[in-house]
Amino acid sequence: MKVVCPVCNRLFEAECTPYTTDYNNVKYYFDTEICMLAFLRDPENFIFKCKKSQ
Ligand SMILES: [Zn+2]
Repeated sequence: MKVVCPVCNRLFEAECTPYTTDYNNVKYYFDTEICMLAFLRDPENFIFKCKKSQ
């Protein structure tokens, strides 16, 4: 399954990453630990960015 990292917008395979988190019952995938930590620090910032680009 191809997913987009919500932090850096890079496309990658969800099966290839150990970095996932659930937020508001939505599962998010991250390509790196750095991206996951950035998301966890300020989730609303990145979720808002996703909604805006749709
Ligand atoms: Zn990323």
